[in-house]
Amino acid sequence: METVNYDVVVVGLGNAAQAAAVAAHDAGAKVLVLEKAPEGKKGGNSWYTAGARFRHTYNGIPDAKPLLPDVPESEWQKIDLVPYTKDDFYADVMRVTRGKAVPELAALLVNESYPTVLWMRELGIHWEIQYSAANPEGGRLRFHHGCEFLRAKDGGAGLVNMWYRILQQRGINVRFETAAIRLITDDRNWVCGVVAQNPEGLVEIRCKGVVLAAGGFQASPDLRAQYLGSGWDLAKVRGTKYNTGDGIKMALEIGAQPFGHYSGGHATPIDADANDYEAAFFDLGSRRHATQRYGWTLGIMVNTEGRRFLDEGEDFRAYTYAKIGAEILKQPGGIAYQIFDAKVKGPLGRLDYEGATPVSANSIAELAEMLELNSTVLMQTVQEFNDGVMEDRPFNEVIHDGKGTKEVYPPKSNWAQKIDTPPFLAYATTCGLTFTYGGLKINPRCEVLNRLDRPIPGLYAAGELTAGFFYYNYPGGTGLTRGAVTGRIAGKNAAARLKTELSGLDWKGPK
Ligand SMILES: Cc1cc2nc3c(=O)[nH]c(=O)nc-3n(C[C@H](O)[C@H](O)[C@H](O)COP(=O)(O)OP(=O)(O)OC[C@H]3O[C@@H](n4cnc5c(N)ncnc54)[C@H](O)[C@@H]3O)c2cc1C
Repeated sequence: METVNYDVVVVGLGNAAQAAAVAAHDAGAKVLVLEKAPEGKKGGNSWYTAGARFRHTYNGIPDAKPLLPDVPESEWQKIDLVPYTKDDFYADVMRVTRGKAVPELAALLVNESYPTVLWMRELGIHWEIQYSAANPEGGRLRFHHGCEFLRAKDGGAGLVNMWYRILQQRGINVRFETAAIRLITDDRNWVCGVVAQNPEGLVEIRCKGVVLAAGGFQASPDLRAQYLGSGWDLAKVRGTKYNTGDGIKMALEIGAQPFGHYSGGHATPIDADANDYEAAFFDLGSRRHATQRYGWTLGIMVNTEGRRFLDEGEDFRAYTYAKIGAEILKQPGGIAYQIFDAKVKGPLGRLDYEGATPVSANSIAELAEMLELNSTVLMQTVQEFNDGVMEDRPFNEVIHDGKGTKEVYPPKSNWAQKIDTPPFLAYATTCGLTFTYGGLKINPRCEVLNRLDRPIPGLYAAGELTAGFFYYNYPGGTGLTRGAVTGRIAGKNAAARLKTELSGLDWKGPK
């Protein structure tokens, strides 16, 4: 078996892993990155993030300017950026996770979010303003509180490529088609290496620190069925097929503590015709035809029985989309139809429904027939909904307009408008699993903890496989921020082990 020596091994090549590799390298370590996918599929889930939005704190434009040095002053003059403070971000995490997020991890995410995006800019990651998040108001662009205004230039693919260039500039070695399969430990159970599999066979890498950044277990049908439950083995996966829980399994095998919301995951409504894997786009090459279906707040959703099953106006998309996929999966056949009328054609047009083929009809009865739904039930659902709509309040899609329904179950709390103007459109949607919430227990140094809540020396974790951040739900734009924050810390701390006592055995130093 080939044997090599490095200081730090990073498992994975997504956003979290690349942040870790750069941080470890810049702290003086000789770093090797192992990536299971071939080079053409590099970047993991991070590549699929069309929006590539990073949620972070800011106190208005003065904090945004250093991130966006190329935006001219004349542009800033037109922008209102409502501050998003640490208290706001922390409160959002706690609210959507029903208070379950581990306080010190939530605080880590919040406190490190701005320093981390600034660090990325200094390294050479270019940011853009996410203009679609702005509300035009009186000739100005107003970015409301918590609206994720910052995105990586050219989306997820741009982010991955920018990171990769930064790794290459530093001469950091990356081995593609090389899957980590086992951690090597010494007789104290300190981690001192990794065994990986490549097309030629096995390779053993001896090192002082391993950063696991290999994603969640969403692409493993057996782990989905085991942890998320019945029916999830057949759910569509929005991103990479390579995140099969390997990092989690390897760590558990040496006594790491399983932690977090193992039966939960980030799952959104996607086109019912999307692929089983890499389901985020119909056309992976051009990424023009996105399968996300994020317009439900503008209409209603019904199941194949023609009945509504959730509050479509509970909150803004960013605070509900991650839990709606699971609600769809619970419906018969795992299918839901989003139904709109002609009044919302304009706002719907801004929401990437471009590649979809809706069913269009001039009456609800005709729509039901075309969808092969029970027309009596669907007409009754729409009639009851329409009867309940509060007509005394104006519709405003960019605020919680309180224009809800009365005496309708389930209610629609905001943005309720009658479905009464033909043509009526229906889009078939299903559940698209993005990533899983359960994983490894870490402390704020991103050290992996064992069953006694003590760090396993030499083992660090970053990104999707770290648990304790998200339960039930998730605030949009936080997956990438979590990855960069934990990757940076894990990489730095793994490199810092070079200055500590050698973990023993046959460490020979990098060749
Ligand atoms: C369609 C879509 C849109 C999204 N939009 C956003 C967004 O706008 N904002 C946001 O914050 N988040 C978004 N997310 C979530 C976000 O992309 C992920 O949570 C984040 O990118 C995960 O980063 P990561 O580095 O932890 O994992 P990944 O980027 O998935 O990287 C993990 C890497 O590990 C590799 N790997 C797996 N097993 C092994 C092994 N055994 N050995 C070696 N390598 C291995 C994989 O091949 C992969 O390259 C989105 C996700 C998807 C799918």
